[in-house]
Amino acid sequence: MIAPGATLGVLGGGQLARMFAMAAHRLGYRVAVLDPDRDCPAAGVANIQVCAALDDAKAWHALAAECAAMTIETESVPAEALTYFGARMPVAPGERALYITQDRTREKRFLTANGFATAPYLAIGTPSDADSQGIDALLPGLLKASRFGYDGKGQHVVRSRQELASAARQLHGPGLLEQRVELAAELSVIVARAADGETAVHPVPLNRHVSGILDLSVVPAPLPQDISSRAVAETLRLATLLDYCGVLCVEFFLTTEGRLLVNEIAPRPHNSGHFTLDACRTSQFEQQVRTLAGLPLGDPGLVTPQHGVATANLLGQLWADGEPCWKQALSTPNAHLHLYGKSTPRPGRKMGHLTCIADNVTDAQAAASRIRAVSQSTSTA
Ligand code: AMP
Repeated sequence: MIAPGATLGVLGGGQLARMFAMAAHRLGYRVAVLDPDRDCPAAGVANIQVCAALDDAKAWHALAAECAAMTIETESVPAEALTYFGARMPVAPGERALYITQDRTREKRFLTANGFATAPYLAIGTPSDADSQGIDALLPGLLKASRFGYDGKGQHVVRSRQELASAARQLHGPGLLEQRVELAAELSVIVARAADGETAVHPVPLNRHVSGILDLSVVPAPLPQDISSRAVAETLRLATLLDYCGVLCVEFFLTTEGRLLVNEIAPRPHNSGHFTLDACRTSQFEQQVRTLAGLPLGDPGLVTPQHGVATANLLGQLWADGEPCWKQALSTPNAHLHLYGKSTPRPGRKMGHLTCIADNVTDAQAAASRIRAVSQSTSTA
């Protein structure tokens, strides 16, 4: 166990690192971040910032001198970084889990090899692979970049071989063609797994995406119990196969035919788990601290299980007319506003989120959507 007072390191300084740092501080730890942006969201809350690129080996050395353990906030971190830190201190997740999950094609192959159902796919190594056999069966589909794609970035809808070839040329690297499946719902499972294999699973959110970006999550997912239970069982099996330590999120598709498919694995806390900050006995970020420091896992359950919870993302477009007016968000009981301290709003950029707790999921969703809309319409331009 790493005792409070020690410094925990995190590779990447975005909002996930910021919320990790806040949870770490609450338990008495110091935090060091590695991020090239001096103004990154975690900069204001970390005790130490090493200001350098995530693949800068000299910076790893400087960080290693400060830290007792190391975690990540993004899968863009080179897997070798965790090999480097893993030789010197506890790391969570481990290098192998990051290596598999940071590349969509590698991740899909791992899933298929281990019997998990996914959307049908084919690896597209180069644009000439658009002529491969089996492509037509995957159209219309989505061409996704194997690396560094998130929030719908690096994704193209393709309807023909011609569109596929031209989209593949724009990727500038390997990709994955996935059949577009008819979605009835999207859900995710967030689990914390300790080094000894103990697990704690948060209540399952149902997620709504708009233009490939998470818009809203509601908890508990208004879905038949067996769907959520199956998703949890798959996630636990996956965490065991990855010999995972840390917080893991698995995103699922529920198709209109009732099939549960694994969409993506995130080797870190996830946007769809932000509700845990205000609604659960232990947040996903506190679990990240606990798994990293070797502390016992916390209770992942809802504080008030009889209630419904909704989290709405606050994206850059909400700032189109200036800083939104947060009066409603701040004065509504059981509404919780989180802003990430980003100074430049851009459409699609995650600037914050708002969580509402109400008598049921429908009321919570209505409150979160209404308060978000009102915030923009009364912005202080
Ligand atoms: P991803 O970044 O792969 O999680 O994709 C972002 C979002 O795009 C997903 O949450 C879905 O809403 C949608 N999407 C991605 N892949 C597919 C697919 N194969 N079929 C249908 N919708 C998809």
